[in-house]
Amino acid sequence: MTATPEVQPGSTLGIVGGGQLGRMIALAAANYGLKVHVFAPDDDSPAFDVCAMRTVAAYDDVEALTRFAAGVDVVTYEFENIPAAAAEALAAKAPLRPNAGALATTQDRLAEKTFINDLGIETAPFRIVDTPDDLVRALDAIGRPAILKTRRFGYDGKGQRMIRAEGDVDAAAILAEFDGAPCILEGFVPFEAEISVVAARGPDGAFAAYEPCANEHRDHILAVTRVPAPGIAPQTEAAAIGMARRIAEALDYVGVLAVEMFLVPQGDGPARVVVNEIAPRVHNSGHWTIEGAITSQFAQHVRAVCGWPLGDPARVGGMAVEMHNLIGDEVSDWAGLLAQSSAHLHLYGKGEARPGRKMGHVTRLLPKT
Ligand code: AMP
Repeated sequence: MTATPEVQPGSTLGIVGGGQLGRMIALAAANYGLKVHVFAPDDDSPAFDVCAMRTVAAYDDVEALTRFAAGVDVVTYEFENIPAAAAEALAAKAPLRPNAGALATTQDRLAEKTFINDLGIETAPFRIVDTPDDLVRALDAIGRPAILKTRRFGYDGKGQRMIRAEGDVDAAAILAEFDGAPCILEGFVPFEAEISVVAARGPDGAFAAYEPCANEHRDHILAVTRVPAPGIAPQTEAAAIGMARRIAEALDYVGVLAVEMFLVPQGDGPARVVVNEIAPRVHNSGHWTIEGAITSQFAQHVRAVCGWPLGDPARVGGMAVEMHNLIGDEVSDWAGLLAQSSAHLHLYGKGEARPGRKMGHVTRLLPKT
């Protein structure tokens, strides 16, 4: 690096969003001597426990956003559903990393899939669905099974409905469940595994990817991440990382991003990679990197958004890594997990262990078999 970066140890990093991702970014930033100011709407946000300054205000409070951004040296975010007007207000006062264009592209499944296809990267086949007639036509074109998804604000399987191969389809009734929200219909991808590539890009174009990890979901929520991804062919791994790099470059991305992918078996050959979605932020499938990689995804994100050299994403010393989310009352076993010598326990400081709520995670480094 030639020029002195504009952000130095002692500078202030602004984080929009106060959940566990913001909390873990803040912890990594503190390790580098940065001060952290968190902006979040709930006054019991997990990230507030570990930051120097907080603003409690709504994401559409432009005045509060402007004041917040004016007081920090660089702004990042931990979730992608930031309104466009908020992104604009932030970017007017401080460098917003990743940029507002990355948010706009990834907030809308139609814009996202179109962008990915325009790069020559495969996604599930899809059609726009705004009306019952659209749905009937889309099902004719794509076939069943298929998945209807809202274009915006979906996460952990929310805003999705599977349309099975058998039985009648009442298009009007199905769409009524979505309250008139704009949707897309996606063809069902017959995948053998789900993986993600977590990677970072700096303002100077430097790029560093973690090796792909395999993700297992339960009830649409990530349950387990394994690294290395079992059985992944070297060609598939290289293709997946290459896609993440093209996506990051085309978005002129700065920070950590995650690209979720399906692996589709292809006879005896290496699996085909189909991109599902892009998360313009640190990601649950990257939590294994805290103990499992030389540089954690959170440290890497801080380095990238500050314009600092990226760290080494390599997995530590020949160990396989498994990350298990602690969802709902699974967290009640925290003392038992502490008693296991191989378990690295992370608790997010959330009060009530509601079903489906991510309360913490545990990472184990295992001798590679
Ligand atoms: P999403 O909210 O798009 O990440 O979807 C949540 C989960 O639903 C994915 O991780 C997959 O397990 C499943 N899923 C979503 N879209 C598809 C698809 N087109 N084909 C097969 N499974 C899918």
